[in-house]
Amino acid sequence: MKVEDFPIEIRPYIIPRQEGRIVYRCLGCGLEYGIEKLLYTCPDCGQVLLIYDLQFDRLKKIPGKLWRSIFDYRKMLTIPALKGIYLYHEFIGPAMPLDCVIYLGEGHTPVIEANSFLQEKAGVRFFFKNDGQNPSASFKDRGMASALSYINFLIKKGHVSDVLAICASTGDTSASAALYASFLQPHVKSAVLLPHKKVTPQQLSQPLGSGASVFEIPGVFDDCMKVVEAMSEKYNVALLNSKNAWRILGQESYSYEIAQNFEYNMKDKTIVLPIGNAGNITAVINGFLKFYEIGIIDSLPKIIGVQSKHANPVYRYYLEPDPKKRKFIPVTVKPSVAQAAMIGNPVSMPRVIYLVDLYNRLAGKKNVFFIEVSEQDIMDWQLVANRNGHIACTHGGESLAGLVEAKKQGIVNNNDIAVVDSTAHALKFSGFQEMYFENRFPAEFEITPDPNLINSPVLIHPKDLKNVPAPGKPIKGDDFKQFVKRVSEEIATRLNLKYR
Ligand SMILES: *Cc1c(COP(=O)(O)O)cnc(C)c1O
Ligand SMILES: [Zn+2]
Repeated sequence: MKVEDFPIEIRPYIIPRQEGRIVYRCLGCGLEYGIEKLLYTCPDCGQVLLIYDLQFDRLKKIPGKLWRSIFDYRKMLTIPALKGIYLYHEFIGPAMPLDCVIYLGEGHTPVIEANSFLQEKAGVRFFFKNDGQNPSASFKDRGMASALSYINFLIKKGHVSDVLAICASTGDTSASAALYASFLQPHVKSAVLLPHKKVTPQQLSQPLGSGASVFEIPGVFDDCMKVVEAMSEKYNVALLNSKNAWRILGQESYSYEIAQNFEYNMKDKTIVLPIGNAGNITAVINGFLKFYEIGIIDSLPKIIGVQSKHANPVYRYYLEPDPKKRKFIPVTVKPSVAQAAMIGNPVSMPRVIYLVDLYNRLAGKKNVFFIEVSEQDIMDWQLVANRNGHIACTHGGESLAGLVEAKKQGIVNNNDIAVVDSTAHALKFSGFQEMYFENRFPAEFEITPDPNLINSPVLIHPKDLKNVPAPGKPIKGDDFKQFVKRVSEEIATRLNLKYR
């Protein structure tokens, strides 16, 4: 639809303007810094940063109702830069010129209601929001679209040239970073650091396919993270981990989309998501806060962060009810099928602490909860979900297991409607499904397959058949007729089929 075709009251706003005053703000000392330089931590005190718009309040001049219409109408535009996360440009990157936006098809992922069988089994009405349906098959693309659009902006402005983007990754960050960086080659090149044997073959294939330099190093993600942090302090590289506040900004789109999907009615809604490095929960909380402040939504949904018992530092932190007595202690992680969240020392912890407190205060009640689940429950719920029409990854299974546990604990009640984050596509983690079906989990995973959930292919090769086709060697005539007859009989017997 063209601008002149929109209602007259929408037209002035339908194409966002480049405005606002964007700064990095330190969560430790509160100092602010301009965005001409890519910063990850406060040059003064070393604490992590968040990005703020000093003129955010100008957005209050537009009533919530009008904002809602602007976003709904904006979906009808065919301008690529506004097709993804920047549909919410005023909230995600008001200073970003549209011609700097990198759009590879991220965002606006489907929200799919579970069938009645699955809702009954879970005991809650819920939807999956499938972030596996992003270009690199995980939610990380939301943040990369933001971070790489910003780098593109710096390049176009002449602030930087020949960028080497680096990241440490549990698999999906590198897949996404490599994809978005490759779109900007030759100006941007990427290098990714992965913990050796701790990412799936599918995830490893992604940065390789995008042409990134891929390094595997001993240890777990937390070790890789220390290396890239040291490198980003010493060398001229652009760090693309969620320490980079531009990533957080882009990932806020997840909340805006949920709001829009439910016609901005957040009453009785619960958002459930897995926590690893805690960038995602930071972004989701911040997104809802911004929409709430401007009056686009009238209430703040409940947020439930889920961790595996094998990587649960955030859960442990909040076990202590008295905020003054809470103390963050990193944990040593154990193997987890929610491998992308297998992180013992989340970089965004200070952001979480700050935002959870603010969120609860604005909601006027405790509105952010933390749940831990077993590896067994993660796998079982993932498999059950996928046997009911979903494409949840193990982390989607983790979220669902967390929702079920939250219901048991009375955190979620019968009126609540949950949106469960499946953060990546099932196919990325199909190796865990295979280990389950073949009962090959090493003991430290603590997973025993439920025979009812196991599935495996059956080879049909009737013994009495002398000749069977092979690639490049078709069979003909009676041999082929016999082959078709005997194979169908055998399948029909196994399926208990009746004659018609
Ligand atoms: C990165 C990732 C997570 C963890 O998200 P954080 O922002 O690190 O908390 C969860 N699931 C998947 C599939 C991921 O790729
Ligand atoms: Zn500081």
